[in-house]
Amino acid sequence: MSTVHELLSKADNISLLDSQLILGSVLGCSRTWIIAHHNDVVCEKIQKNFLSKLKRRMGGEPIAYILGYREFWSQNFLVDRNTLIPRPETECMVEIALEQLPNTPTTVLDLGTGCGAIGITLATERGNWHIIANDISGSALKVAQRNAFNTKNIAFFRGNWCEAIRPGSINLIVCNPPYIERNDNHLNHLEYEPLSALVSPDRGLYDLRQVIKESRSLLVKDGLLILEHGYLQRDKVYQLLHNHGYINIEMFDDLSGKPRIALARFR
Ligand code: GLN
Repeated sequence: MSTVHELLSKADNISLLDSQLILGSVLGCSRTWIIAHHNDVVCEKIQKNFLSKLKRRMGGEPIAYILGYREFWSQNFLVDRNTLIPRPETECMVEIALEQLPNTPTTVLDLGTGCGAIGITLATERGNWHIIANDISGSALKVAQRNAFNTKNIAFFRGNWCEAIRPGSINLIVCNPPYIERNDNHLNHLEYEPLSALVSPDRGLYDLRQVIKESRSLLVKDGLLILEHGYLQRDKVYQLLHNHGYINIEMFDDLSGKPRIALARFR
């Protein structure tokens, strides 16, 4: 039998925060509880469970997959290996989307919703919007549907980008597509996440181009498209939007000052 303190000291090369979170999750206790009960003895079963999760973390698996959730905006979103882990930069996209239109009946499409973080957050923040969210991955959609258990104004369906959506019916499209180049070194750190949600052919631009092209027929006149893109893709994405007839194009940085989000209107 080991104490809380002894168990936490088995962590190597990971943050104390992560090991406290893992122990908290196996014990079903808060981090504050862990900190206040350093000398409590932990039973064999919990200890085993903790050590196996700790080992996964020390092997490089993201904490979100070990805990089974990641906080995004103001909700904990369930995630698993079929979904990308929501990123803070994507919160910027949500913020921009919320600024564009008031809380009046609006049809919003979240293309490639993954765990549902963007669509569900918009639905929660704007009770009068109706959100449609799709994904090509049935396993990701299952996770998204669980995350939306409390959200009435969102509907999910399986589909590839813009297929099977009524033309001219959408006021706002939001999309965080895969945009990383296949041989980008950055992928070495993302080995646990689904490649299909990260990597896109044609120097990471294939899916962005698809979405920019296909979205035109779905948007109402003056409808808006908001895209997340890679930090080196700003000029290319601007060009694509411009070449496909979008106007009022604005490009935004993420919280770390990297170009990351595009907003455009379709006429
Ligand atoms: N922003 C993520 C990353 O670089 C990638 C997300 C995406 O491809 N849509 O880690």
